[in-house]
Amino acid sequence: LFLEHALGQGQVIDLSRDHAHYLFNVLRMTAGQRVAVFNGQHGEWQAEIVATGKRGGTLRCLMQSAPQRMPPDLWLLFAPIKKARTDFIVEKAAELGAARILPVQTDFTNSERIRQDRLQAHSVEAAEQCGGTYVPEVAALQPLSRLLDSWDMSRALIFADEALNDPSTRPMLPPAPAAILIGPEGGFSPAERARLHKMGSVTPISLGPRILRADTAAVAALTLWQNVQGD
Ligand code: SAM
Repeated sequence: LFLEHALGQGQVIDLSRDHAHYLFNVLRMTAGQRVAVFNGQHGEWQAEIVATGKRGGTLRCLMQSAPQRMPPDLWLLFAPIKKARTDFIVEKAAELGAARILPVQTDFTNSERIRQDRLQAHSVEAAEQCGGTYVPEVAALQPLSRLLDSWDMSRALIFADEALNDPSTRPMLPPAPAAILIGPEGGFSPAERARLHKMGSVTPISLGPRILRADTAAVAALTLWQNVQGD
């Protein structure tokens, strides 16, 4: 269970209404039982349920059961698409070990807004379900061009370019710190493509001869990177 609360020996935690509902009504847990909790900074802790209630409850931290693990410093930059598919990208990125998820507005991005809180909740759920101790942050939507203007060149940018179709191109994937960039339904504009190919620290990659859906491309590129550089 992810809690935005300090964790440590003997720490007492008051549960929110939602967490109380989840533990006591959905999971039917009762006082005296133990639950694994994490806050993204202090590893995983075993906590005992000391009080239950309809609108809240109390836990007490007993002992640390896993150290804090930080994922490699890999970001996913992607252009938001339709709601359900954007949710899918965030969920899969969190499962596949992206450390930060940054929605970007490209020339052909149709979405003007995102629900950052909703996407962050997907990231928490994905971290909970794969037993991680780290929750990737979902950043606010920002223009890709602004992000590139201030790009820190020590971070390799892996640019998934759908226009690369030379089958002999085998991606040499750079290690962390790195970021993967995935475009929207309409792909990248010629101006964006030209800028990215000229920029230092950019590694353009092909994900094969078929044009993948943007959500599939995000999953494929993250998997490829984890295979080569994941630890
Ligand atoms: N119209 C489809 C859709 O609805 O999702 C295709 C979208 S594709 C143009 C979206 C992004 O996925 C591209 O901008 C690129 O970043 C990535 N992508 C898809 N296929 C790719 C490939 N074969 N090689 C490299 N990147 C690819």
